[in-house]
Amino acid sequence: MYLSSRILNSNESVTLKVNEKIEALISSGKEVYNLTSGQLPFKPSSEFISQIKLQLNFLKSFQYSPNSGFEKLCEKMIQTTEGERDINLTGIGHKAIVSNGSKHSLFNALGTLINPGDEVIILTPYWVSYPEMVKFWGGIPKVVESHTFDNFTPAIDEILLSISPMTKAIIINSPNNPAGIHYDDNWMKEFATKIKDHKDVMIISDEIYSKICYFDPKPTYFYQHCPELLSRTLIINGISKSFASTGLRIGTCIGNEKVINAMTKLQSQTTSGPSSLIQRALLEFDFSLLDNYFSNVEHQLRECSRLLMDRFREHQLAHCWYQTSSAFYYFLDFSRFPFFDKKFDKNDDHSDEIVEEILEKAGVALVPGTAFGQKNTARMSLTLEAEPFSHAVDKLLDYLIQG
Ligand code: PLP
Repeated sequence: MYLSSRILNSNESVTLKVNEKIEALISSGKEVYNLTSGQLPFKPSSEFISQIKLQLNFLKSFQYSPNSGFEKLCEKMIQTTEGERDINLTGIGHKAIVSNGSKHSLFNALGTLINPGDEVIILTPYWVSYPEMVKFWGGIPKVVESHTFDNFTPAIDEILLSISPMTKAIIINSPNNPAGIHYDDNWMKEFATKIKDHKDVMIISDEIYSKICYFDPKPTYFYQHCPELLSRTLIINGISKSFASTGLRIGTCIGNEKVINAMTKLQSQTTSGPSSLIQRALLEFDFSLLDNYFSNVEHQLRECSRLLMDRFREHQLAHCWYQTSSAFYYFLDFSRFPFFDKKFDKNDDHSDEIVEEILEKAGVALVPGTAFGQKNTARMSLTLEAEPFSHAVDKLLDYLIQG
């Protein structure tokens, strides 16, 4: 009776619940292959760590930063994005804001845009927090689905059909969590051409995994085909995935001045600017050193992705498989595997039940897919080293074939 309806209507993050179960099993002595991770199991590059150590020597590292983050870091983020995407953001007056993780950037962006009753289009499978954040701000998530057989790439005409006079924004997340793919350049081009006519729709481009791509071609973005869309695009990024630094909590949003100023107002009355120490380290760090750092990460992800493909083929499960290329996940559609029809009905969602049974019987932990907006699915991470990953896949496939 003390709680707001806003929070009562929110769901807790599903990964937290799964992790509690894994801990309980491990402490009871059971061997568990944990494929739930949403982060890389490596420390950041040693040069970045050295920069953080160096910045510990300065008083300013321990004091407040400006509400929108250090101006020079905002400029560096804009210049980096301009260079990587070959676009001009400074020329059109775009600004940046640094927040406490890109989750925070997204939350502030949605809070700045949404009026109660506004609709926000979200594409499945979606990152768990999008609909929760939209609802929190009084908005209505409008979901457009994709499937294994279309490589989890939603049809653009279906997106267009879901646009209404109440549509405030659409969120594009490429590379995608949890599908582990990015929408290809043709998709981006078609999206750009067709969304051009819907002039009142803002586009939130969540590019947090843009650096993590282990098979060519690399991710591209709709605004590269149609720069005029940049005036209504918010580019979200951060260091959690690209610097393997989920715990340091830095995210950024680049967009038009009006929106960024409004986000700054919201941030100034809530969290203030993020960690001065990490921002100062980022300012001094040479971002080009990340390319070398990522070649090892990419190698490992490629290995796990290939291993998965080989195992699916060996077990005549090629029809259940799709090619991942980016981020570090694979999204399992249980309804395509042999065990499913013996016990379950496609029309209902059994994700939680199946994931629980896989954990108990096979000792493999996955994140149930309900929270990603698709029935009878689960997300698995490709971040284990090849050997334990191979054992985990064997155990998982035993279950997925026989039940
Ligand atoms: N966006 C996507 C698609 C994510 O997967 C995540 C984290 O897993 C985030 C945003 C938030 O990242 P952070 O707040 O750690 O920067």
